[in-house]
Amino acid sequence: MKAVEETDVIIIGGGIAGAGAAFEISRSAKVVLLERESHCGYHTTGRSAASFTENYGNGVIRRIVLASRAFMIQPPTGFSDYPLLSKRGMITVARADQLELLAQDLEAAQALVPSIVAMTPAEAIARVPVLRADYLAGAYIEPHSMDIDVNGLHQGYLRGARARGARAVTNAGVKDIGRQGGQWRVETQAGTFLAPTLVNAAGAWGDEIAVMAGVRAIGLQPKRRTAFNIPAPAGVDITDWPLVNDVGAEFYFKPDAGQLFVSPADATPSAPMDAYAEDMDVAIGAERLEKATTIEVQRVSRSWAGLRTFVADGSPVVGPDDAVPDFVWLVGQGGYGIKTSPALSRVCASLIGGGGLPDDVARQGVALTDLTPQRLRSAQQVSAS
Ligand SMILES: Cc1cc2nc3c(=O)[nH]c(=O)nc-3n(C[C@H](O)[C@H](O)[C@H](O)COP(=O)(O)OP(=O)(O)OC[C@H]3O[C@@H](n4cnc5c(N)ncnc54)[C@H](O)[C@@H]3O)c2cc1C
Repeated sequence: MKAVEETDVIIIGGGIAGAGAAFEISRSAKVVLLERESHCGYHTTGRSAASFTENYGNGVIRRIVLASRAFMIQPPTGFSDYPLLSKRGMITVARADQLELLAQDLEAAQALVPSIVAMTPAEAIARVPVLRADYLAGAYIEPHSMDIDVNGLHQGYLRGARARGARAVTNAGVKDIGRQGGQWRVETQAGTFLAPTLVNAAGAWGDEIAVMAGVRAIGLQPKRRTAFNIPAPAGVDITDWPLVNDVGAEFYFKPDAGQLFVSPADATPSAPMDAYAEDMDVAIGAERLEKATTIEVQRVSRSWAGLRTFVADGSPVVGPDDAVPDFVWLVGQGGYGIKTSPALSRVCASLIGGGGLPDDVARQGVALTDLTPQRLRSAQQVSAS
């Protein structure tokens, strides 16, 4: 018979959300993190574009990213052997028929990130020479957008949590959640775990975990996003190209370890699953890239897909469930879960410890009610009535 292990906090999910939460919560409590796969980060966390832009996602997301920057630039001593951020820059481009959208987008972008400035098509082409002059009608640049060392960040969280006494258990798929003596009793392939507090960081599976625990689902919708690598154009040094993003969210591309990373920016609703790239989505991405640039896609070296999981308002859900307060949500990070993880992890730990929003997060203009699940419950009640 497998032993029963008691702890203060059980976290379900070993992606960036669960790892970040383990890092912060283990400062003051004993943590066990349970991951179904044989290694943490197998699902969405290991499939991202690794971009730290302050100009993507709704207003709440952007403010949380601003509150995450300091940690990314200067993580705690010993957290990582290498810098977590490296220079990239991001150019948003528009065709003639998208110029109005570009102007609106630029105005909204500058309100939060004043370093963003308009650039001429010629200036954009000087930075990324494959952009077609007959395609490009306008552009702007976010000069301080960065690349994230996702593995460095993820492993830093896990290593730091372990150093504070946390335990990450892999091959520990949660099969049943019940109660025992006022605590949560979590049954997994790797044994049984008891704790007074349960954190749901299960990504696309977040609602399934809630239902297993007898908690009402919050309406998580996983959406598939496809990405693929192609060889860099022959004889061209792409190392310093910025990320190029279409203002209408039809494609983006950036250098990726000597190759180009390309995405059709798709968002196809999906069930929670081990997502994979559909040939059609890769073909759409290649076609859009070829329209905007002089690149001819001859070979795709690798393709993959991941699930970006959202609730209705596009903001993350962090905090105790309104009806079951020892069940804590940490889900709905959508396409922004890596870059928001420093601040969201601290918010989660603070709420579990009985505190409110960390001061620096509040100073960015985020309200607790922007994040807690109550906002979704009110909407659920309206739609049910
Ligand atoms: C193509 C693409 C590009 C992206 N680009 C960016 C970007 O540039 N910047 C950015 O910040 N974000 C980006 N994202 C989004 C980001 O990757 C996600 O928001 C983030 O990884 C979500 O992390 P997570 O820990 O919530 O989910 P996951 O990494 O999916 O982790 C959830 C974990 O829970 C585990 N789990 C589920 N059910 C159980 C169970 N029953 N028992 C035990 N464990 C369970 C799963 O196995 C999984 O490991 C991108 C995503 C994609 C797909």
